[in-house]
Amino acid sequence: MTKIGKFQTALHWVFPSRCVACGTLVESDFGLCSACWAQTSFLGGTLCDYCGVPVLGEETNDTVSCDDCHTIQRPWLMGRSALAYEGVARKLVLALKHGDRQDIAKPAARWMANAAVPLTSNGALVVPVPMHWSRLLKRRYNQASLLGHHMARLLDLPFCPDALIRPRVAGSTEGLTTVERFQKLEGAIEPHKKRGTRMAGRRVILVDDVMTSGATLSSAAQACVAAGANEVCVITLARVAKDAQIPDKCGNIRKCVMTTVEIYTSPLCGFCHAAKRLLTQKGVEFSEVDVLADPNRKPEMIQRANGGRTVPQIFVGDIHVGGCDDLYALDRAGKLDALLGA
Ligand SMILES: [Zn+2]
Ligand SMILES: [Zn+2]
Repeated sequence: MTKIGKFQTALHWVFPSRCVACGTLVESDFGLCSACWAQTSFLGGTLCDYCGVPVLGEETNDTVSCDDCHTIQRPWLMGRSALAYEGVARKLVLALKHGDRQDIAKPAARWMANAAVPLTSNGALVVPVPMHWSRLLKRRYNQASLLGHHMARLLDLPFCPDALIRPRVAGSTEGLTTVERFQKLEGAIEPHKKRGTRMAGRRVILVDDVMTSGATLSSAAQACVAAGANEVCVITLARVAKDAQIPDKCGNIRKCVMTTVEIYTSPLCGFCHAAKRLLTQKGVEFSEVDVLADPNRKPEMIQRANGGRTVPQIFVGDIHVGGCDDLYALDRAGKLDALLGA
């Protein structure tokens, strides 16, 4: 065994690898235990050329697009995504974004590097979707930049973390329709005056953690083109793919399961029970995060709830409903069913 090999074995002994999703000890450095791996939808098969979501049908030489990318024109050449945003993937994206779990970036970037192979070309520049500096100050890191940094290394491509900037505070896009999101984000991202010139005359591979409507990526792609990029491709860790047909590990096709209702709770809290009771009455399936049992997810809750520290905190899709009173108020106003049905 080489010296490095011995050192790695020793290191593995002192710091054994753990599954990034559940913390179980694992043999390899792949990142996930077998149980979590089975609950993670890696995207493959015939894929939409613009976002990487699986599309039913045979592989052809023509351009393939999913319904979303057919309706919304994408200002980029090709796009891929490593995972469908559901189950374990959703948990990982949230933990990386809000839970200070920077350790997720490395294995996640490996999955992205695999998915991004068709997008690579000699000298393509890897550029992350930027964050406004005030948000960066609060979160301490830009998850897109972390992913881009590791992915670029694996693909042996140049990386420029600040080729793009976000000069204004964007504000939340929660609860906005797709059209409103696009309007709000138009022109929100610009090339950096100096570093932006690195994009001129070459292919740019834009990196983000998650693609929902694609409005942020569109704004970023337009900024790359404005800076003279020849071609723009996009790669994300996860794609929100409502109703997408996902082939499972045995090749069976099933519908992408979107956990649309999430509730952060504590077992001793009466308000939490009351909120869950209402959701159950409505026949809504929800995923529950017990912040007492899993205190690591409390910071994630506080961030998502814009500083709200009390339980419960309820989310329907990307929309922050609030606490128990807010949920009941929404119901009394007759708006809850519409929200749940969206
Ligand atoms: Zn696991
Ligand atoms: Zn698509």
